[in-house]
Parts: sequence; structure tokens; C-alpha cells
Amino acid sequence: MTQYDYDLFVIGAGSGGVRAARLAALSGARVAVAEEHRVGGTCVIRGCVPKKFMVYASEFASHFKLAQAYGWTVGETSFDWPTFLAEKDKEIARLSGIYVTNLQNAGAELAHAKARLIDAHTIELVGKDKTVTADKILIATGGRPWVPQDMPGIEHVLTSDEAFQLENLPKRIVIAGGGYIAVEFACIFKGLGVDVTLVHRGPNILRGFDDHVRAHLADELEKKGIDVLLGCQHESVEKTEAGLVSHLTSGATLESDQVLFALGRAPYVKGLGLENAGVALKDGAVIVDDYSRTNVENIWAVGDVTDRINLTPVAIREGAAFAQTEFYDNPTTFDHEMVASAVFSQPAIGSVGLTEAEARHAHGKVDIYLSRFRAMKHAFAGGDERALIKLVVDQASQKILGCHVVAADAPEIIQMAAIALKMGATKAQWDSTCAVHPTLAEELVTMREKYLPQDLGAAA
Ligand code: NDP
Repeated sequence: MTQYDYDLFVIGAGSGGVRAARLAALSGARVAVAEEHRVGGTCVIRGCVPKKFMVYASEFASHFKLAQAYGWTVGETSFDWPTFLAEKDKEIARLSGIYVTNLQNAGAELAHAKARLIDAHTIELVGKDKTVTADKILIATGGRPWVPQDMPGIEHVLTSDEAFQLENLPKRIVIAGGGYIAVEFACIFKGLGVDVTLVHRGPNILRGFDDHVRAHLADELEKKGIDVLLGCQHESVEKTEAGLVSHLTSGATLESDQVLFALGRAPYVKGLGLENAGVALKDGAVIVDDYSRTNVENIWAVGDVTDRINLTPVAIREGAAFAQTEFYDNPTTFDHEMVASAVFSQPAIGSVGLTEAEARHAHGKVDIYLSRFRAMKHAFAGGDERALIKLVVDQASQKILGCHVVAADAPEIIQMAAIALKMGATKAQWDSTCAVHPTLAEELVTMREKYLPQDLGAAA
């Protein structure tokens, strides 16, 4: 028995915190977890999971259209938002319950309270009139949507948190931002029949993704009827009798029923008392080393609160690596290289490794293989949605440095491609892999001609 109430106290029951807590508890450690909201964190409660349900819901609009081209008679269709919300909430409650059960089965205690550090070993459970002590502390509090608090009319603006719980589906929505959340919600709302305008300050959406991918997706969004306004941003939002009016830096005004800001997320450290324990921050994020240890010897942090790669599976791996290191005597770090990600836009993006620009910068000469085509499902139906597949190959070693796919199944495809890239596969090894036919993904192993810029004027 140590002098502390617990061997490990985890603050935040999201993806990273729960994985660490369960693994630690299964090792026999005495573990407690504090969560001020619902167990499951951003991913389960107001992020990836409900978002994916909304994507599924919104895709039916195009499925119904396609079905007709394939000979189906589709009767009158309509979408009932309250029905969807109720079903979605039921499923989220079920999943959150599974997280609770898993924690309990592992032997971890759960406290429904905000936790605040009093010092490096003492935690106050705010509002419970209780303090506890722990040998080790893990901060896994995630992030929260960031909005410019000083913008006139900011009180009228939604973030993704509220977008999951809207009472009524708006007829018109203005979405600000050009990142993951803005693009995903633009497609979701468009699919559900809402008039969508995307307002982004940059020259194109999805900064950080490959330029061909960005240009391709922007084209696809426009084809779907989403208005994409680039090079401008909000100055204010005004409430009028007709709804909300967005005043943009371009001088334009946009009328809508809702305005959604998706301008990034900030690490959630508010009220945590990190200063009482001396935990250091940089740009608002907890500073950690490769083992997720902070500058305070007995305090670690994983997930979005550390602002490394803000993705659920990354938080899970960081949490697992921490538990392996500290409770299984197995020093483990998580390798943040070659982490694949997906944007659940419509069509979706799957991406792993370097963009063409990053590869040219880091490796000098690169070979590019690029294909843009109509998938057979859409070609049959006379649709104009196009897929894009791009490989970035190091000219000297012939290693594949980047793989980028825009297509309905891109997230599924990129998971497998990520294995090959992580293993350091060469283009010749990809090409020696026999195609699976007829699939969209077969293009990945059949691209023989190098792409020359004049072949396709798609780059942004
Ligand atoms: P992102 O960082 O992806 O995008 C933020 C967007 O807001 C960028 O287009 C950025 O423009 C713009 N922006 C930032 N600050 C301002 C400002 N002051 N004024 C105007 N525009 C601004 O953030 P998101 O909110 O979309 O998502 C947060 C994170 O959540 C993502 O980075 C990702 O890690 C994670 N996520 C992952 C998903 C997935 O895996 N599918 C889905 C959703 C979220 P600029 O490019 O010019 O900086």
C-alpha cells in the first residue's frame, strides 16, 4: 500500500483516459477516473461517432437518386430530424454505457465530477466536497471548440457541440472554417436538404492536405451545390427578423437560419488547477515528452489536451503507451509518424504520409502518380462525382511517401494503405500486388504512368 488513495487518477473519461485507466486497473493498480460530462468524451458524445451517424443519414439523399438510375422506383422520401436525433441519442447513450461498464469491469472507480489539482498529488472533486490523493495523475481532458469571443454577435453562433443537438434542422446554414469539421458538416447538412454556404479565410479548404485533394474536394462540394466562399471571413453576425445575417470581410452579407463556426479546437485545461501542480503549457497545450510525461514527474497527459495529433486513435495509443510504461514495466512510446486520417466529407478523403509539397521539400525529387476518374457506380448512373487517387513516391528510394484518396470508401481504403506505407513499401512492391477487380482501390496498384503537371490542371 502506498501513502495515496489511488495509484492512478485519470482526469477525463474520453478515448485516451479510458484506455489508460482500464489498462492500468487490469494490471491490479487502484485507479479512479473523473469525468464532468458524459463518459466517452468528444469522440463518442459530440464528435466522431454522432458525426458518422449524421454522415450516414445524409448520404441517403444521393443513394435514393442513384437507386432510380439503377431501376428502382423510389417513392416520396422525406427526412425527419427529431426521429434521427432520438435514435442517435439512444445509440450514444448505449455506447457511453459500454464505456462505463468497461471501466467498472476493469476495476476502475468513476467519479462524476470536475477534478481540480490542489497540488501534484491531491485532487479536489469539485462540488462533491471531497479531495483524494494519487501517486500518478493522467490528464486526458481533450479539447473544446474555439470561437473568437470578441466578434460581435458571437452569442448567435453554434459550434459542433450544439450542432449535434439542434432542435430543428435549419433551411439555410452558413459554416465558417475550412477544416475537418466545417467540411464534414457542410456535406452533412447539404445531404439533409439544407442550403449550405462555407466561408473560409484561406485560398482553399483543408490546409495541410495535398493540393490536388483540396482542389478536387472543393470542386466536388461546388458540384453538390455547396457555395464555397474563399478568402473571406466573418466580421460579425447579426440577428434580424429574417434570421441571422453574416457580415463578411469581403463586404458580402449572407442570410441564414444558423451560423456554425468550426475554427479549430483548443486544449481543455480551464479550471483544472494545473498551475497548482506546476504543470507547464505551451500555446495552451500541456507539454509532454515522448512518454507523455509532463514537466511534473508524477503527472502525464494524453490526447487533444497535448495538441499533438488530435485524433481519437492517437489518444488511445498514447493512453495505452502510458499504461504499458507505468503499470506493465514495458517502456512504450507511440510513433506519431505515418498516422492516416480521414475526412468524412462526401466524397470522403483518406490520407496518409506526406503531401506532394511536403515530400518535395523533405526529399527533393519525387514521382507523382495521379488518377482522376468516375467510379463505375456513378458512371452507370450518369453522375459526375469523381474519385481521385494520388501516390507520392521518393524518386531515389522509390518508397511511397504519401497516399491520398478521394472517394466514397476512401477512409476504408486508406486504413490498408497505411499498413504498407508504415512498412516502408516501394512503388514496385505495390505494383507487384495483384489488383482486386472491379474495385476503385485497384487503381492504387495499377498506376504506371508518372503524372506530369500538364496532364491535369487540378492542383490548387
Ligand atoms: P481544423 O484545425 O481542422 O480547421 C480549422 C479551420 O478554421 C481552418 O480552416 C482554419 O483556417 C480556420 N480558422 C482558424 N482560426 C480562424 C480564425 N481566427 N478565423 C477564421 N478562420 C479560422 O479544426 P476543426 O475545428 O475543423 O477540427 C478540429 C480538429 O478536430 C481537427 O484538426 C482534427 O484534428 C479533429 N477532427 C478530426 C476529424 C476526423 O478525423 N475526421 C473530424 C473532426 C475533427 P486556416 O487553414 O487558414 O488556418
